[in-house]
Amino acid sequence: MQEAIRKLLEDASREISGSREDPRQLDQIRIRYLGRKGELAQLFKQLAQVPEALRRDCGKLLNEAKAQIEELLSLKLIEAKDRSAERRDRVDVTAPGRRPLRGRLHPITQTAMEICRIFHWLGFETVEGPEVELDYYNFEALNIPKDHPARDMQDTFYISEDVVLRTHTSPLQVRVMEKRTPPIRVIAPGRTYRCDSDVTHTPMFHQVEGLMVGTNISFGDLKGLLTIFVHQMFGPETGLRFRPRFFPFTEPSAEVDIECVMCRGKGCRVCSQTGWLEILGSGMVDPEVFKMVGYDPEQVTGFAFGMGIERIAMLKFGIDDLRLFFENDLRFLKQF
Ligand SMILES: [Zn+2]
Repeated sequence: MQEAIRKLLEDASREISGSREDPRQLDQIRIRYLGRKGELAQLFKQLAQVPEALRRDCGKLLNEAKAQIEELLSLKLIEAKDRSAERRDRVDVTAPGRRPLRGRLHPITQTAMEICRIFHWLGFETVEGPEVELDYYNFEALNIPKDHPARDMQDTFYISEDVVLRTHTSPLQVRVMEKRTPPIRVIAPGRTYRCDSDVTHTPMFHQVEGLMVGTNISFGDLKGLLTIFVHQMFGPETGLRFRPRFFPFTEPSAEVDIECVMCRGKGCRVCSQTGWLEILGSGMVDPEVFKMVGYDPEQVTGFAFGMGIERIAMLKFGIDDLRLFFENDLRFLKQF
């Protein structure tokens, strides 16, 4: 009996170590030795015929053999799994190619690029400026002195008393005019910051600023240029209107509305039944601003405008919640 057990253990070990690392083959070996009708089970049956004095020892040997075979099998199975993982990591140059995930530009970036494209076509050049800005450029040089009530409309993040996160892209007007002489035609897209946070405001948002300065530039030029822009951006049938408005750094100033893109001017929830949507602020550069940069207001004239890129993107793509732009939900972003 002991001899039979020893031989069985030897056979099983040899077979397991010689086997391919194939889980199915290992399973067959397991059934042959450990199965209900397997070789080990046969020996257990014969235990009844073993003389009583030896029966106890033989039983112990059988149990030990069983445990040993189980362990050999499970070790081999782990090896097999490791090998197959290794094989998976190997590069198979004959396998068909996997298509990589393609990224795309954020709808805000797309909109900014589209706005810039239209103005480039109209002869404008893109310039950029710092987001951490001196109080002087953000407010004072734009005719917004300390204590001016217009500052309340643009409450911002102060780095120090004289340094702020810019509340608009308008500081670029001053920075560009300080360095250049007319004629000037620039647009300045970028991030801006204000202490606002609700459904229609986020503390960080994007604007595009436009500035044109030269001789004999009139409000008519401003109107013509913005009309071309709106027709390019929202379609040639889109109506627009200019409404008087106050801005400290332009005079006269106007807010520009376009015919509601949702209802085409009939009146709906988006336009509060008015048929119009505000898209930008604009006006003739205030002579005070020209004086600040050393231009002679008797010699040059010009206009400036600024628009929120989120606002334009919402109208262009029909998005009703500003916060969607900044949640980074791929299901939303993949649509553009
Ligand atoms: Zn409407």
